Amino acid sequence: MRLLPNIALLTVSALLIGAADPAPLYSEADFAHVAKFDAHVHANVSDPRFLDVARRDGFELLSINVDYPDFPALRDQATVAHEMRAKDPRRFRFATTFSMQGFGTPEWTARTNRALDDAFARGAVAVKVWKNIGMVATDAEGKRVFLDDPRFDGVMAHLEQRGIPLIAHQAEPKNCWLPLDQMTTENDRSYFREHPEYYMYLHPEEPSYEALMAARDRFVARHPKLAFDGAHMASLEWSVDELARFFDRHPNAVVDLAARMSNLQVQSNADRAKVRAFFIKYQDRILYGTDLTDSPPDPAARAQNPPATNDFPKEADQVWRADWRYLATPLSQRVDAINADAPGLALPRPVIDKIYWKNAQRFFKLGK
Ligand SMILES: [Zn+2]
Repeated sequence: MRLLPNIALLTVSALLIGAADPAPLYSEADFAHVAKFDAHVHANVSDPRFLDVARRDGFELLSINVDYPDFPALRDQATVAHEMRAKDPRRFRFATTFSMQGFGTPEWTARTNRALDDAFARGAVAVKVWKNIGMVATDAEGKRVFLDDPRFDGVMAHLEQRGIPLIAHQAEPKNCWLPLDQMTTENDRSYFREHPEYYMYLHPEEPSYEALMAARDRFVARHPKLAFDGAHMASLEWSVDELARFFDRHPNAVVDLAARMSNLQVQSNADRAKVRAFFIKYQDRILYGTDLTDSPPDPAARAQNPPATNDFPKEADQVWRADWRYLATPLSQRVDAINADAPGLALPRPVIDKIYWKNAQRFFKLGK
């Protein structure tokens, strides 16, 4: 008796990925010649090989500058961005950021807006705020600063007025607040085991995951005209249901997928039809991104990004092809981060075209 619903489900999913699906699929062989945009990379070194592999694989890039102690200084990141953009202005875009130094003082807003305007004049198409807001940064009184602090309003109003999107990485994967044995991915488990200073489960005195998400949500609601990109699936990577609620509450928001594919694969292995239906329903709200980071030699190994190798172009090609296989085709592949095989979502071509290209073109206003 209990078999019947399962058989019915199998039939439905077979129809979804089979010949009855009205929209055709891309194949693995289509990978290199479909136009694609990686909306979340970090070029921390002026490396023409990054542009070469992007050209070979059919990618344009958005490199995001971040106020991150393990990355080069902000000024150096900006220099790299200008050099890379000069090499291939069509293929290479960048997002600027700002320093929290002096936050809350009367001069901070004017100084920050001036610096941002300089960056836009040099080609920056977006602004990044990082998880240091909410988790590290303090004001002149030594009080922790959260993203919904009204002292950001002058800068956010400036972005709204100029039509510049904000990319926000707030909080961490929810796994960061869970005991090791309850984490859902191996990559999070090994990372937080090795970096107790960043492992919030060990720091109950710090803001909770829920408090950081609530501050972020109040911020997005407070700035309904701001084009908002929640990096890393808006730190709701653990539940497409939660992310759907976030999208429904905040029509001005999109998210990128950077460095969270394994969290999706955990969910699609449990309920593939649900994750596929999520992508189809929210096909205008999702930007493909990886967090690929091209670092100077001897990178600080603490950076929570795909592991650095000596062969960055090979690493980039492998990540991009694995993600394509998962999103665009029904083919299965071994995913070490979840200790399992993950069958692909086989998203219809029009959905792939939006996630990989059209949404980023629209959101970052890249039309040319
Ligand atoms: Zn990143």
